[in-house]
Amino acid sequence: MPVPVDWSRADLEPLVFARSGWSCDLCRMYLPGRAYSLQHRRARGAGGRRGGVLDTPWNLILMCGSATTGCHGWVEQTGEGRRWGQDHGFVIRGEARDPASVPMFRHRRDWVIPSVDEHGVGVWLPAEPDGVLT
Ligand SMILES: [Zn+2]
Repeated sequence: MPVPVDWSRADLEPLVFARSGWSCDLCRMYLPGRAYSLQHRRARGAGGRRGGVLDTPWNLILMCGSATTGCHGWVEQTGEGRRWGQDHGFVIRGEARDPASVPMFRHRRDWVIPSVDEHGVGVWLPAEPDGVLT
C-alpha cells in the first residue's frame, strides 16, 4: 500500500495509537480506559496548516489527558510544561521547523522522530537532541 500524501484522521488515528503502544508518549501511561488525546506538535495556530503538516504522522502524537488535563494539558497550558515541551520536541513553535526533522524526548528517555515506514506503519526513528539521525 503506498503511503498516502494527504493523511486523513481515519488513517492517522490507528497509526498513531499503534505506534505509541496505546501509551502516553510523554509519561508512558497505558491509556485504554483513561483520558487521552492526540497532540499536534506544531499547532494549527503556529502555522500547522502551512505545507500540509497539521495532520501527518510526524506532527501527531498520543498524550494522556485532554487539552487541559494530564500531560497534554501540562505542555499546552502551563508555563513550565510549555517550556519543557518546546525544549523536548513535544511543542514546535514557528513555521521554519518541519516536524519531520524535529526530534522529541519520548517517555523522557529516548530522542526519536515520529514517522511512518514505506508500508504506512508508524515507526520511531532514532535521533539526537539536535535532530541529527544516528
Ligand atoms: Zn502522560
